[in-house]
Amino acid sequence: MTENTKPETVLHNSVGFDDISDSELLDIDLDLCTASLTRSDSHVTCCSTALSEDSKVSEMEGDSEDKFRKKRKQDKQSPLKRFNLRYLCVTDLCSQSWCEQQMVYGLEMPYLQQLEKAPEVEPGASIHLAKELEVHDIVSVSVKTREDAWAVKLLNLLSMITVLQQGGRVRELPVFGVIEGIFLVGVIDELHYSPKGELELCELKTRSQPSVPGVAQKRSHHLQVSIYKLLFDSMVKGQLKQESLPQYLCLKTETALGSQVLEHARKLGLNVSSFGDLLELAFLNLRFSDIPAIDSLKIEYCYQANNSPLGEDIVHFDEQQVTRELHFYSMYWIGEREAQGVDIEDAWKCRYCDFADVCEWRMRRAGNTIWKQRTKRAK
Ligand code: SF4
Repeated sequence: MTENTKPETVLHNSVGFDDISDSELLDIDLDLCTASLTRSDSHVTCCSTALSEDSKVSEMEGDSEDKFRKKRKQDKQSPLKRFNLRYLCVTDLCSQSWCEQQMVYGLEMPYLQQLEKAPEVEPGASIHLAKELEVHDIVSVSVKTREDAWAVKLLNLLSMITVLQQGGRVRELPVFGVIEGIFLVGVIDELHYSPKGELELCELKTRSQPSVPGVAQKRSHHLQVSIYKLLFDSMVKGQLKQESLPQYLCLKTETALGSQVLEHARKLGLNVSSFGDLLELAFLNLRFSDIPAIDSLKIEYCYQANNSPLGEDIVHFDEQQVTRELHFYSMYWIGEREAQGVDIEDAWKCRYCDFADVCEWRMRRAGNTIWKQRTKRAK
């Protein structure tokens, strides 16, 4: 299957399983200086439905932030357990790198976020979709179970492995794996081979402003592509264990695949009947694929209004630095430390934060004159 023959990517169409690039959503979030957990790829419903009853928006509306403060203190569970999250998205960690406290408030009090900002996602999503359609067609498949939803990811992965093996270009490639004991999921915007034959990751960021982002936002973008590399490399090097998916995601390997998923698998020439069959096949293909690790990381910025390029960054991959950062973030999720707000040099972020009026971190620093000046909100 080459680029010209346009392979198909499967998009499952159960409510909430949107396949918009997570990178795109992250970019919009950071543009607006809000950091909600972006449920962007096919895990959307799993994560949303996995949120505990206590964290449902409807139940939280009208509750005071005091309730969350008290609850957090009494609750001995780790945040992963408290929010009933089986896994995190790569973009969750990027939101965390922007402001961890803001990300937590986004989970606890999502109703405080300015929902009218959502339409700004649309232009960026359209550009991503157009790019995706350049390399493959999109087929809609109905899914009935969580196993079906993950099967769709695996089917996409399998068809993309074939394209990469043949030297082609792929877009919206699902990646996942375990880092610091936490299951992470993401979607790589694009992978292709350079003229020198090196495997290059390219992340497209669409901007609502005709300018490249500032240093703080770029830092998040660099973290994002670095984590993608860690996940992808571990998949193609055979370091990710097949058992990790059922174990972390509570998926049952014996679950029979839904009729539409089966039909698509057959079209790809795969003889499978259960989720476990497909899982085994996907891991066998990964193990014997001979696809190299990612050689270089690039981020392209373009202006949403007219799709014109704004610039590009070549990201230096510093494994030690990324690993250190991931260790620090994971300590929050496993309950080894409390959430932290921004440092004084990043206090300007508070001016644009939807949670500024309820933020304990900000209030605790209210006596500090420099902090006060830097966080002063426009009237
Ligand atoms: Fe973070 Fe500042 Fe918002 Fe608090 S007010 S959540 S410290 S950005």
